[in-house]
Amino acid sequence: MSKPLSDHDKRKQISVRGLAGVENVTDLKTNFNRHLHFTLVKDRNVATRRDYYFALANTVRDHLVGRWIRTQQHYYEKDPKRVYYLSLEFYMGRTLQNTMVNLALENACDEAVYQLGLDMEELEDIEEDAGLGNGGLGRLAACFLDSMASLGLAAYGYGIRYEFGIFNQKIVNGWQVEEADDWLRYGNPWEKARPEYMRPVHFYGRTEHHPDGVKWVDTQVVLALPYDTPVPGYRNNVVNTMRLWSAKAPCEFNLKDFNVGGYIQAVLDRNLAENISRVLYPNDNFFEGKELRLKQEYFVVAATLQDIIRRFKVSKFGSREIARTDFNKLPEKVRLFIISSFLQDRSCHVCLFSALRWPSIIYILSFLYLAVQRVASLFPGDTDRMRRMSLIEEGGIKRVNMAHLCIVGAHAVNGVARIHSDILKATVFKDFYEMDPHKFQNKTNGITPRRWLVMCNPGLAEVIAERIGEDFIRDLDQLKKLLKFVNDEAFIRDVAKVKQENKLKFATHLEEHYKVKINPNSMFDIQVKRIHEYKRQLLNCLHIITFYNRESDLSVQFVTDFMLLLLQAAPGYHTAKMIIRLITAIGEVVNNDPVVGDRLKVIFLENYRVTLAEKAVPAADLSEQISTAGTEASGTGNMKFMLNGALTIGTMDGANVEMAEEAGEDNIFIFGMRVEDVEAMDKKGYNASEYYNRIPELKQAIDQIAGGFFSPKQPDLFKDIVNLLMHHDRFKVFADYEDYIKCQEKVSALYKKPKEWVKKVIYNIAGSGKFSSDRTISQYAREIWGVEPSLEKIAAPDDPK
Ligand SMILES: *Cc1c(COP(=O)(O)O)cnc(C)c1O
Repeated sequence: MSKPLSDHDKRKQISVRGLAGVENVTDLKTNFNRHLHFTLVKDRNVATRRDYYFALANTVRDHLVGRWIRTQQHYYEKDPKRVYYLSLEFYMGRTLQNTMVNLALENACDEAVYQLGLDMEELEDIEEDAGLGNGGLGRLAACFLDSMASLGLAAYGYGIRYEFGIFNQKIVNGWQVEEADDWLRYGNPWEKARPEYMRPVHFYGRTEHHPDGVKWVDTQVVLALPYDTPVPGYRNNVVNTMRLWSAKAPCEFNLKDFNVGGYIQAVLDRNLAENISRVLYPNDNFFEGKELRLKQEYFVVAATLQDIIRRFKVSKFGSREIARTDFNKLPEKVRLFIISSFLQDRSCHVCLFSALRWPSIIYILSFLYLAVQRVASLFPGDTDRMRRMSLIEEGGIKRVNMAHLCIVGAHAVNGVARIHSDILKATVFKDFYEMDPHKFQNKTNGITPRRWLVMCNPGLAEVIAERIGEDFIRDLDQLKKLLKFVNDEAFIRDVAKVKQENKLKFATHLEEHYKVKINPNSMFDIQVKRIHEYKRQLLNCLHIITFYNRESDLSVQFVTDFMLLLLQAAPGYHTAKMIIRLITAIGEVVNNDPVVGDRLKVIFLENYRVTLAEKAVPAADLSEQISTAGTEASGTGNMKFMLNGALTIGTMDGANVEMAEEAGEDNIFIFGMRVEDVEAMDKKGYNASEYYNRIPELKQAIDQIAGGFFSPKQPDLFKDIVNLLMHHDRFKVFADYEDYIKCQEKVSALYKKPKEWVKKVIYNIAGSGKFSSDRTISQYAREIWGVEPSLEKIAAPDDPK
């Protein structure tokens, strides 16, 4: 009888994780011990597990160095057009495993660590997430960097090295409590400070008019100190750079007019300047007009542009005399890429801070644009249109319309899913679209299959690789080849088995880390994402309550085993915090009801972040993507679940529309209003009480929330939520309730037929190729940036011995 495989042995068997040659393993062990000794200055008697993690991280990092230097040399020699991705968020998560995957070192490292008597998963768990993002937008930037490197583009990510990333979320007595994310406390083995490329950034001051032009004087200077992080491509020897700026006060900061005592104060005040890169604003899809945030934006742009121009000037092309004086050539060598979010806050505006001396510049631009340029000539006499298209909003306080400013300044503007692009063209950007239709494009978002399949779900990657080979990892469209196996009994069994193992593993994790016990045979119905009204966690809550009410009524036969997880944080957003409280309150009642038993568990997982998503996504049976149609620009969580073999219940919103197209309408659970229905309802008026009075189960659920059923000690705890749902719900939860519940019934019915379920899962996996960020980036490269992606490898360096 063969004994069951240990985790270590299981990992070893998987070929997508690279080969563990004896020579490699020996070298890795040697280097690990060398780093423990020379870098960590420890021996094995006193080394902690964190020391072992750092020794391993440094060992793996050594394999990046030669490739990193080579890649940058290669770019210098070839001098290709550079692509610069500016973003205030890069939500990278962990780096160790990703590096091992992309460098095909995973099995060798695993074996080395095992031979050293250590546990790989335990060491991996010590790494802090680089949580320099809030959610989808920041994670998109991270996926794009992976794809740009994997496609051999000369690309750079530029952002801010926040000392504190997205806060750690604790749930205390059912409420969210935030803790500072001190991710750099133990040091970051993946970054390299580059003080030699420090740049000054000027703030405030005033302008002086001289005969030879306007001078900007009396500014406050903050230095931007760059830290570089390597971004390895998938097995192509490319290593690109993510450069994050940290704010440093200059030596003379505030020292100019010091007197006795003033010196101490001046040194203490250095913190004020350095606050610029202190902390990430924790808002997702929400605009907050704070001065410090505007300073962060200016800081990254000013430092980055200086760096880009420096690089241009020292490049082979730029150092030629003609180019050095002729910045018209810059566009041939440089593309800037900025991603911004418009959908939730259609009025995406920035207040003018007079202190920053912006108004004059903006007014000039606006004047030039409106008067001199094209609107007037194209639409003579259309003053209404000119007013609508102005960069300056009229009204009491003069505000810049940032969206308009972007469109005017950009070479191309795109939405991030087809439906999103269509909505932008038909609504907020209609006037601009009519003037410059060619400027508007679509680039449907994507996710990197390295992190979101190979890394987080090696079991599934392997089962796929056994059927169609490994090339799908860099060419995800090849997943279509799986259509041949939709009726293949062995494949169906393998896919089901991997899902079961992932669920078991996640259940074990939940038990260990969150002290909750769930039945691994229940359906894992998961909604993980930031809490926001438009994402309608409240609709999910109503479904849970309805389900619970049906389950506890013994005369009704239960539909199916079922459990639900709701994760993810919210900042200083009152409603979001109340939603968290409601979910935890529902959990307290449901999870302790002996009649329902383990047929329904409601779990709110605290501290959602990239690493937790990597654990939850592979375990999901059902993915909840239930935003009000027209509100979710694309979503990327939806794609992660699809690729990992979950079925989707969702509205016709964002990328869900294209997912339905790719998987086949029969293989996705679509419900609710379409965008047109929502628009029609906006015209006619949405009346929540109509639904409340007509649908008894809905009324029951709302009455329970309102009457303190879930908060017996504080019956009116949720009166704000009830009031919101009944009287000013912009996202029309009740209007989709009935159809959602019916759709959930179909889900439950199908879940009782495992084979049919898995067949639909296979259609989804086979159809998920479009949602690789490699496809997204290839389209940006060819259709906007004018560069050609390539799967060619560049020459490999000698790895460390
Ligand atoms: C993918 C991802 C998101 C985005 O999820 P949506 O469901 O598209 O909102 C947010 N947070 C994390 C950590 C992610 O990995």
